[in-house]
Order: sequence, then C-alpha cells, then structure tokens
Amino acid sequence: MTDTRPSFAEIEKKVRAGERLTAEDGMTLFHEPNLLKVGALANEVRERLHGDRTYFNRNMRLEVTNVCMASCLFCSFAKLEEHMPGSHTMTLDEAWHELETRMDNPPSELHVVNGLHPGLPFSYYTDLLKGFKRIKADIHLKCFTAVEIHFFARHYGKTYEQVLLELREAGLDSLPGGGAEIFHPDVRSRISHDKATGDDYLEVHRVAHRLGMMTNATMLYGHIETFEHRVDHLLRLRGLQDESLALAKAAASNGGTEPRGILQAFIPLAFHPDGNGMKNLPAPTAVDDLRTLAVSRLMLDNFEHVKAYWVSSGPDVAQIGLAFGADDLDGTIVHETIYKAAGSNSPSGLTEKDLVRLIREAGRIPIERDTLYRVVKEYDKAAMPEAALKVRDRKAEKHLSILKEIVS
Ligand code: SF4
Repeated sequence: MTDTRPSFAEIEKKVRAGERLTAEDGMTLFHEPNLLKVGALANEVRERLHGDRTYFNRNMRLEVTNVCMASCLFCSFAKLEEHMPGSHTMTLDEAWHELETRMDNPPSELHVVNGLHPGLPFSYYTDLLKGFKRIKADIHLKCFTAVEIHFFARHYGKTYEQVLLELREAGLDSLPGGGAEIFHPDVRSRISHDKATGDDYLEVHRVAHRLGMMTNATMLYGHIETFEHRVDHLLRLRGLQDESLALAKAAASNGGTEPRGILQAFIPLAFHPDGNGMKNLPAPTAVDDLRTLAVSRLMLDNFEHVKAYWVSSGPDVAQIGLAFGADDLDGTIVHETIYKAAGSNSPSGLTEKDLVRLIREAGRIPIERDTLYRVVKEYDKAAMPEAALKVRDRKAEKHLSILKEIVS
C-alpha cells in the first residue's frame, strides 16, 4: 500500500457525496490526530442510515466446549486437551439445561461458539441444535464461527456446503462473526497459524450467503497488527459484501424467491491480553476503540450495521461509541466467558433495562430487535424523564471534555 494519503477535508467531501473511500482514505482516518472529527463524520453516516435508532437484542451466549486443537496467541479461553485443568465440554443435557433455566424470560437468540474439539462426533453439534429448538422452537440459533465450520469440514470430511446444510437442517439459522481476527497472512500466520485462513473465513461466509444464510463479521484489533492491516481487513469484508449484495440483487431481479444471505453487521473486537500468548502487550485504549469503530463505519459503506460490542470495550466506551458510528450495542448476553478469561472487567451480562438506559442516556432511541434486525419493540426517546435527560447532558459534557483533553 503506497502512502499517498488524501487530506481529511477531501475524505469529508467524499463521504458527504456518498463516494466510496479508498485504502489511502482509511489510512488518513486512522492517522487523523483529531479523533472527534473522525467520530463526527462517522456519526453523520450512522445518522443518515439510522437516525437515532439504536438496536439491541435479548440474547444468550454459550460455549459448550473450550477444548481446542488450535493455538491462537490471543486466546485465553481454549484448553488443548480434555481433562486439562480448566477444560470443559458440556454434555448435551447440560447444554440444553442452560437454555431451560432461562425460559422464564427467554432470549430470542442463542449465540454459541466453541473451541475446535477433535474428539466429538458431528452428531453432537446437530443434536445440540435440535435439542435447543425442542426447548424453544422459535429461538434463533446463531452458532459456530466460520473457523468452526472450516474445522467441521476438514475434520468430518465434508464440504462447507454439506456442513452448513446439515447444521441448518438441525436448526442453525445464521452465523456469528467470530474467528476473523486479522485476515492479512503476515499477521494471521503469527497469531493464528493453525486454523482457517482469512480466505477460508471469507469463503465460508460466501457459501453461507449463497445458501441464503445471514452472517456477521468481526476484526480483532489492538495487538501486533498495523493500521494497514486493519484497512486491508475492512476492504476484504467490503469486497465480499459487494459480491453477496450483487448476487442477492440479481436473484431478486430474476424473480427468484430463494433468500440470499449477506453480512448483517460488523463488530470490531478489542484485544485483551490477560492469560494468553500476547500478555506482554497492552490492551487498546478507549481512543483506539472509538477510532476503530468510526473508521469501520466510514469504510464499510455497504454494511448496514456496526456494533459497539459492550463486552469487548466495556459498557461506558460502547455507549460513547453510539456517537462514533455504532448503531447497535449487541445484547444481554448473560454468559460470556471468552473475554472474561482474557481479563475483561465488563459484566457477564446486562439486563434489557441496562441496555435501554445506556441507549437513552446517549440521546438515542432504543429498538429491541431480533437477530435479523426485525423490530421487536420500539422504545420512546421522549419517555426519558427530565432528571435523566439532565444527567445525560451532564455525562455527555463530561465525556466530551475528557475526549477534548485526550485529543488536544
Ligand atoms: S481463538 Fe478459537 S480457534 Fe483459536 S485457540 Fe481459541 S478457541 Fe481455539
């Protein structure tokens, strides 16, 4: 990538004219010293797309096994073998029980990600999904990263298409975005050398889209990668989304009734160093979290949603992220353990009330959505009491003055 960076003013003009940004534009945005300018530009795009509407859902996380054949340097969650201290693999009954215990206030989505366990039969995963649907027929199962799908294909001798179709037959509805890390091989070969490559990840999503499944995408930032690697990562995702959108459009214009999948949301994930092979590196700061959100919003012009994942950055930074390009806070989550293992101080879960309050106090309108962004409940911004508005304004002033100090 040659360093022929345009000015921020040129990028502003392009964004306001709806023109696509280049890799060089992305580099300018990452290097722009005035973070608030980058955030404000991303916020223009966010408000053009969504106004004040800000999404969250009632979801539940589950990791049924942390046994994993891979050895990613940033991972604090995995154990190489069964019976190692701290390893766990749930029986099917134990996994199903986790959902059963939530049926008094059931989540609309179950998000399952796991280690790459070499000793389980493929039927473990299909039975797992079938059991969840038996407990709650309409629960949306967003399960298994592209890295897991790639592993299933290699380990059980199937194609990506076979794996996805068999899992869908058992109840799988969509794919989460985990496992993307950083696509560029110079980084990936150092931090995740023994799992799906960046191209494999993109190919799994491509096949899922062709089969009509919605998917999501992530980027793990703030470790050994450079800004060039982040921009490269975003452009690879934007390229895949172009392809999938074009196929969806062509299918619709040919009168096709088969649904086509696309990438629904992009979720930047902050690296956390505790207990992993990169423990000597510092975690990214709030400024990096906010800048990465904003640049992602600006570069990913064909993504509808950018999430401020509160588990990764903490609820406070995620809340400010709603003014830096993000339109979604993810969900209630409840049982997150992967970031916890890496030293995250975020709570394990938030209530609907917590999420509504975070969104309202950021001056936005909370919208409870399902996994496919269909509206479940629309809250009223005006319902915020006068006293809370004052608190919000005071908080907003404080956030702003802190940020001004940081960037001055
Ligand atoms: S990040 Fe995923 S694939 Fe890598 S070691 Fe951890 S659980 Fe395994």
